Amino acid sequence: MNVLSKISEALPPSIDLPIAAGAAGAVVLSLTAFFLLQKRYRRKIKTQSSEKRDLLQKSIDGCIDAVLILSADRKIEYANIAMQKLLKLHGHYEGSTIEESIKVYVGKEWHTLNSLIDTRYRTLQEDTFSLPQTRLLMYGRNEMPANLLIDTIKEEGSTSPVWGIVSIHSLEEQQKREEAEYYHRLTHLPNQLKALQDINALNARLHLSNDRKTVLMLIDIDNLSVLRSILGLEQTNGMLKKFTLYLNELSEENHFTAYHTFYNNFLLIIENVDDLESIKLLAERIQKGLSTFYKLGGSKLYLSASIGMSVYPDNGPMIKLFDYAYKALAEAEKGGHGRTEFYISEIQTQEYDELVLYNDMHEGLEREEFEVYYQPIVDAKSHKIVSAEALIRWRHPKFGMIPPDLFIAVMEKTGFIVELGRFVLGEVLKQQKRWEVFSFNQVPVSINLSLIELETGVFVQNVEQQIAYHQANPNLIRFEITEGLAMQDKKHFALQFAALKKLGIDILLDDFGSGYTSYAYLKRFPASLIKIDKVLVDHVLANLDDQAIVKSIIDLGHSLRMKIVIEGIEDARMAELLAGYGCDYFQGYHFSRPLPVFEFQKMLR
Ligand code: C2E
Ligand code: CA
Ligand code: CA
Repeated sequence: MNVLSKISEALPPSIDLPIAAGAAGAVVLSLTAFFLLQKRYRRKIKTQSSEKRDLLQKSIDGCIDAVLILSADRKIEYANIAMQKLLKLHGHYEGSTIEESIKVYVGKEWHTLNSLIDTRYRTLQEDTFSLPQTRLLMYGRNEMPANLLIDTIKEEGSTSPVWGIVSIHSLEEQQKREEAEYYHRLTHLPNQLKALQDINALNARLHLSNDRKTVLMLIDIDNLSVLRSILGLEQTNGMLKKFTLYLNELSEENHFTAYHTFYNNFLLIIENVDDLESIKLLAERIQKGLSTFYKLGGSKLYLSASIGMSVYPDNGPMIKLFDYAYKALAEAEKGGHGRTEFYISEIQTQEYDELVLYNDMHEGLEREEFEVYYQPIVDAKSHKIVSAEALIRWRHPKFGMIPPDLFIAVMEKTGFIVELGRFVLGEVLKQQKRWEVFSFNQVPVSINLSLIELETGVFVQNVEQQIAYHQANPNLIRFEITEGLAMQDKKHFALQFAALKKLGIDILLDDFGSGYTSYAYLKRFPASLIKIDKVLVDHVLANLDDQAIVKSIIDLGHSLRMKIVIEGIEDARMAELLAGYGCDYFQGYHFSRPLPVFEFQKMLR
């Protein structure tokens, strides 16, 4: 009796296997299903029609997946035709063992297939062990991408298996198809289709990410067709391959993905970019690299490229970036060979129409294009989060991310800032309430206040109403008032500041050092915190005068019983020096960029 008959004896008669489905996967599945069902029913079935057995045998023999059945002592009992080919089994293979040289890639290492089977034999569970999308090495051939399944059948109550099943579903065809579809034939780099797919995926992912940039760099090798007519196709192709190797090398250091989008056209996607200077340097390196590639006989043949770049979120949504990079490339090509251009968005080139922007603000608020980001403020010594600043972000559907500096000015002119201020306060209060309910470690959040909001005369009343509406704790919000504006010594401002204090809301004097403040006024100003502006500390590491000024401001603030925050801290040395001066708190990219709420609140856990 052959092994399949032996196994199929265990099959409940009432179960029809879907073997007629024909597809290879289904057969292996049916085999697996068959054992799983057997497990569930745990009944020994004595009779089984011989037709069914034949059918089972036939379908597994003809199945394109490779199927292997092992005995209790791990000897080969049966291999279908695909498996015989794969393992190079000839003639009477029954009773032989699997070659030790066959390896499977698991985790980050190669294991012998035998050792994996051993492990399955020794474990108590009978579950299927599946390794989707792994790689196999056998008989010196190339690595084979495959799905691997190892199964053991155990008798009830026993830990030693009666049967083992190994099935291998080769992914070679699929990989070839994907390669043809998604990879460039000449250089094997991912192609334009893959680039567009990746850009779409990035678009979804970046929506929730922080302020770091993503850059698309299109590299167009100049004059390639002329070159081809001089050098011939083979030489030109060789050059493209060389360029590909060069890009691969560069990518190890610079972390980008390179695509071969068109004959003489390459695309780099560079994520997590902090500053665009590094990108400019990268473009220069590529130009330099290209110029050294080719020597024709004794005379040098200088290659150059035109490069067009676009930046997310500066230029707009991720999905538009590919088009924008092309536009930048066209601009670069206009200027002759070897030029590099960034895409310049409409908002930067146009004298933007304030009225258009103003109209968009109303809709933008309704369409939820505005989002509050949170930037942590940390203790100068322990670096623990002590509070945060709420910073507004506007993802404009056409212009992309518009910097607050730009639209806040328009909002102040048009009065829309009052509405925005209400929105930001509402968002922060709502968030504080959520953090309270979900037991986060709450910290006070400061909100930037425009004096236009104070001019309405109903500002404090509105704050009071919103706090009551959200049932929030007023101690957990603060208002930041810019130095220059706060110094307008108006009586009704002073009254409102006093009213806020009475509600339990602190005031912070922002951008200190960027304007002029009289000591007499500072003494009377009701702030309990001073935030020293970035401009004052930008050169503090190198400049002794700046050091003296910062030190004396900190001392002055302390003498007025005010705490000191310094903003714009971008590196550790700066933080160390300023902590030494007795500064209380820090805010800056060195600790964290402004973050979307989901990212920020992870830090509150
Ligand atoms: P600000 O109040 O001085 O806010 C600090 C700005 O410095 C923020 O820019 C922040 O992202 C940036 N920053 C923080 N750390 C660093 C650093 O280490 N290095 C550098 N280079 N910059 C850093 P952002 O978010 O672009 O805001 C710009 C200005 O827009 C704010 O300046 C504030 O005056 C105004 N603003 C933002 N949100 C609001 C708001 O909700 N209402 C009002 N009225 N104004 C707002
Ligand atoms: Ca501020
Ligand atoms: Ca500031």
